[in-house]
Amino acid sequence: MTGEKIESIATALVVGGGIGGMAAAIALAERGVAASLIDLDPDWRVYGAGITITGPTLRAYRDLGLIDQIKQQGAVTSASRVRLFDGTVLRVLDEPAIEEGVPGTGGIMRPVLHEIMQQRVRELGIPVRLGLTVSALETVGAGVDVRFSDDTNGHYDLVIGADSVFSSVREIAFPHMGPAVPTGQGCWRISMKKPPELDMGEFYFGHENPAGITICGPDSIYMFMLTAHQPREKHMDQAELYATLKQLLAPFGGNAGWIRDNMTMDDWINYRPLAAVLQPRPWYNGRVVLLGDAVHATTPHLASGAGMAVESAIVLAQELARADSVNAALIAYQERRFDRCRDVVETSVSIGKLQLEHARPDQIASLMEGALARLNLPF
Ligand SMILES: Cc1cc2nc3c(=O)[nH]c(=O)nc-3n(C[C@H](O)[C@H](O)[C@H](O)COP(=O)(O)OP(=O)(O)OC[C@H]3O[C@@H](n4cnc5c(N)ncnc54)[C@H](O)[C@@H]3O)c2cc1C
Repeated sequence: MTGEKIESIATALVVGGGIGGMAAAIALAERGVAASLIDLDPDWRVYGAGITITGPTLRAYRDLGLIDQIKQQGAVTSASRVRLFDGTVLRVLDEPAIEEGVPGTGGIMRPVLHEIMQQRVRELGIPVRLGLTVSALETVGAGVDVRFSDDTNGHYDLVIGADSVFSSVREIAFPHMGPAVPTGQGCWRISMKKPPELDMGEFYFGHENPAGITICGPDSIYMFMLTAHQPREKHMDQAELYATLKQLLAPFGGNAGWIRDNMTMDDWINYRPLAAVLQPRPWYNGRVVLLGDAVHATTPHLASGAGMAVESAIVLAQELARADSVNAALIAYQERRFDRCRDVVETSVSIGKLQLEHARPDQIASLMEGALARLNLPF
């Protein structure tokens, strides 16, 4: 719990109850703002993947007061193993703590992380309305008139758009921004039981489709594989997803090979083409501001998209508590976040491009290591 208090605004509407939106609502409510949250999904669900929680992301969750629950319900470690795609071990990468009490790296199932965050939202008494979005936003004086999709109205001192890469808030209030740009790669993911021999996260290189495994709990993992995206006319059903991923894993050994041999049709399997964009400034318009994938959507190459969303939420709340005016706070938020998010988006996109060009693994590794070292610096 922070000792900071926000005096510059009394009320805020957060549009989007994903990782970024919940983090914003929590960070504002803890600083005394009457925050409300809406989400388009009537059931406020999240899909069944796991997520990698890097050291900097764990640090952001510590600042949000949720690191203990993540440690208990997810998995944390201080090293990762690098293998050749056939299973040959190349090296073990030390991933030391970036700060006292913050593990080097970790993972958790997304539904478990959502439940931890939703629980905190409920504890703080933040009103949540579901199956709802905004249809009009107008900054009027020191606040925003909001028209909701159910034809009700509201007025808030600040509106935060954290409504995904397809943000409606962005479409309504930020005409200078555009959609995310496809990168040419796609990401396969599977969530399933843990291979018995797996004791830390693993990366598999040396194949045109790099892959990795993250431990997400005592008996749960997710695996990802990046491929060149082949446009398709129809959506793959579960049987096709299962058969195609199994086939893509055919040359793999080690725990990746175990996953291929033990995956079942009931496991959660997903394929998604990747897209990214760092939106141009300004990230705010009057009293409407964006955060998370709505304004800095990235690819998974640095496993940092969610971490960036949580950091942005914390920085926004800190600046609102610190600055003399809301306008000054929004400028300070934008300037503190822009270069760090640009680093993540641009490096992630560059790594993907190099992978598509079959660049040397050491070239990719040095880009990745450089960015991860910069992300370890305080945000
Ligand atoms: C394949 C893949 C793997 C990834 N792996 C990792 C990883 O390992 N580690 C990591 O840190 N990051 C990872 N990321 C990135 C991470 O998932 C995102 O950066 C993060 O989820 C962004 O959070 P968000 O809250 O901004 O948006 P979202 O998670 O998209 O949440 C948006 C919320 O807004 C709601 N919503 C949508 N539209 C509206 C609307 N019009 N009105 C109201 N509500 C709306 C949605 O229902 C949702 O609840 C990955 C991304 C991809 C694509």
